[in-house]
Amino acid sequence: MDSETLKIILYVLAGGVVLFGLIRLASKPKKCAVCGVDTKDEYKDEKDKNTPLCKNHLVERWKKDVISSVHNMMVIEPDFVHYPYAYLYATAEKLKEWKYTKEDQNNISTILDTIQGKICKECGSKATVAYFKKEDYNFPYFAKISALPVYLCKGCAVKKVEPFLRSSPKDFVEGVYAPTNDRGIYHVQEF
Ligand SMILES: [Zn+2]
Ligand SMILES: [Zn+2]
Repeated sequence: MDSETLKIILYVLAGGVVLFGLIRLASKPKKCAVCGVDTKDEYKDEKDKNTPLCKNHLVERWKKDVISSVHNMMVIEPDFVHYPYAYLYATAEKLKEWKYTKEDQNNISTILDTIQGKICKECGSKATVAYFKKEDYNFPYFAKISALPVYLCKGCAVKKVEPFLRSSPKDFVEGVYAPTNDRGIYHVQEF
């Protein structure tokens, strides 16, 4: 073996070691910001900042943030079996940024407009959520949602979503999103 060949072999080996280290680093679990246990679940707060949280603290934080939001929202029951990596919150601004069609954007805005004046079906308080079963949503076409929503308050809506969050088969590596500073829609996303 000449020295050139040996050099190449050494470079390849060194590259492999570096790559292996990077992969390990990327897949290393982070620590829950509240209790410190290992986790891969991420919470994306209202400022778009990711915080690692264990499943339990993630669910508690999400419920608290949704309940304290003053904005009306559309909530599509999550299908985490088929789309397990994230539960996104999109405002009109985000939908535009994410290149949803005008028809998609308009249908969401029309549905959000219907919440005003409705009463929560579960508890009779003021409704702030238009809730859809996952079967009502033909992923990813918001424009095709034609079913009538169930109107709920935030407290009753998070109660319906919580079991899906807790039983999700994979880690939320792309994040469960906090509701941001405008009305919007909760939905799953393919990555
Ligand atoms: Zn925790
Ligand atoms: Zn209610």
